[in-house]
Amino acid sequence: MQFTIARDVGSLRRRLSEIAGEGRRIGLVPTMGALHNGHVSLIERARQRADAVVLSIFVNPRQFGPHEDFEQYPRMLEADSEMARAAGVALVYAPSVEDMYPTGHVTGISVGEMGRMLCGKSRPGHFDGVATVVAKLLLRALPHVAVFGEKDYQQLCIIRRMTIDLDIPVEIIGAPTLRESDGLAMSSRNAYLTQEEREAAPQLYAVLRETAARITDGVAPDDAIDEGMRALEDAGFRPEYLELRQERTLLPMEFLQSPARLLVAARLGRTRLIDNIGLDT
Ligand code: AMP
Repeated sequence: MQFTIARDVGSLRRRLSEIAGEGRRIGLVPTMGALHNGHVSLIERARQRADAVVLSIFVNPRQFGPHEDFEQYPRMLEADSEMARAAGVALVYAPSVEDMYPTGHVTGISVGEMGRMLCGKSRPGHFDGVATVVAKLLLRALPHVAVFGEKDYQQLCIIRRMTIDLDIPVEIIGAPTLRESDGLAMSSRNAYLTQEEREAAPQLYAVLRETAARITDGVAPDDAIDEGMRALEDAGFRPEYLELRQERTLLPMEFLQSPARLLVAARLGRTRLIDNIGLDT
């Protein structure tokens, strides 16, 4: 299929109507670019479920706080487009901020408590910004399926909830986290790590796994989590949270009940890393 890059919603819609006119199912993979193999695995997942994959690349200002890394976030459209084309993407949609939020844009989505817990505590407004841009992308591309990584687990849960609450007719697919060989979850932000920090970074996943194993072995979650927080500090992290939550609602869980998820966020130097793991019971 012909590969196209659309820089505005008009071009996106024109190309999509051609694709839909050919009777093809559309799959959407939203990203902020600086593509890595984690993103490629999402594209592959989308290709299994759709005939034509749209990859959006948009560093969304509404999901960054005033002191976050919006300005320094890596932008590399040319390399990303090449990677997307090679991975079998049919259409890259890389809009400008003005195309996404034209002058006068005032409407946004509020995801309530689900967006204030966990990462939302230190990133107020972040998930409202994510939900707003994802809703716009879904309504612009009108895909049959959209694929999101479990790497951003709270985001995945919020998007699922939003599409149910707002009756957006799309199937949301969660894809497993792709990791480096030492266990570190792939992330565009890993590029911020110094060499020393990069060496310490896999401890985040190691502690997550150890804590999950203790809980499934019967240790009280609070005790296992206290121990995990200390292990993270010993490894040089400044942990923000390490919490056991219900798998879909993300509500707190005092005792292990199936299905559960253990989620973590921690700073390493100036980089904020997140990860999560499902618990076997
Ligand atoms: P981002 O560009 O970081 O906003 O991520 C775009 C999409 O890729 C989101 O759905 C992420 O959850 C997903 N993603 C990011 N890193 C990974 C990874 N290591 N494995 C799987 N999916 C990922």
